[in-house]
Amino acid sequence: METMTSAGKVDSSFLKEVEKRSGEKLSLCYQCLKCTAGCPTAPYMDFRPNNIVRMIQMGMRKEVMESSAIWFCVYCQTCGTRCPNEIHIGILMDTLREMAMEEGFHAKEKNIHLFHEAFIHSVGRGGRAHEVTMLMEYMLKSRDLMADSLFPGVILFLKGKFPLLPSLVHGKEEIKKIFERCTKEK
Ligand code: SF4
Ligand code: SF4
Repeated sequence: METMTSAGKVDSSFLKEVEKRSGEKLSLCYQCLKCTAGCPTAPYMDFRPNNIVRMIQMGMRKEVMESSAIWFCVYCQTCGTRCPNEIHIGILMDTLREMAMEEGFHAKEKNIHLFHEAFIHSVGRGGRAHEVTMLMEYMLKSRDLMADSLFPGVILFLKGKFPLLPSLVHGKEEIKKIFERCTKEK
């Protein structure tokens, strides 16, 4: 449901807040659908990327924060390269995920935020995602010891695609500092 002010206008406070945090000028969107047409995960989302932008314009905070769409974005950046207004929905989705976690909103896929958290922690620790520790953290926190990702994960591990130890990454200290700065600035 769109949020109206007492004067009967659409409440733009959510739009302003998301624009400020993401740096994306969402008010420029005129619903051309180019983002959604190129998005590889749009068919699996409950609301398409262009819908999410429109819902933010309409002040629909709860519906956006509880949507599955914000967790289904894989940050491929296709939308940003196609948008005539240079709106990067990948950056927007990342911002919305952080806001949803801070405000305690959950999608109907109840553990999906734990997978995101495991990914972020993995990058923060080692400078890049390490699939084995990421999957272990997810399984422990979700108490889902038979997670859907376990079986394909084991196959990939046996094929040598998932190394047991994290790979060496240059500039780990710099990456840690970026994470510390982002945490402080919240
Ligand atoms: S491509 Fe850009 S302008 Fe077009 S619907 Fe998507 S966000 Fe809006
Ligand atoms: S960055 Fe996210 S929203 Fe944009 S095209 Fe890729 S998956 Fe879709």
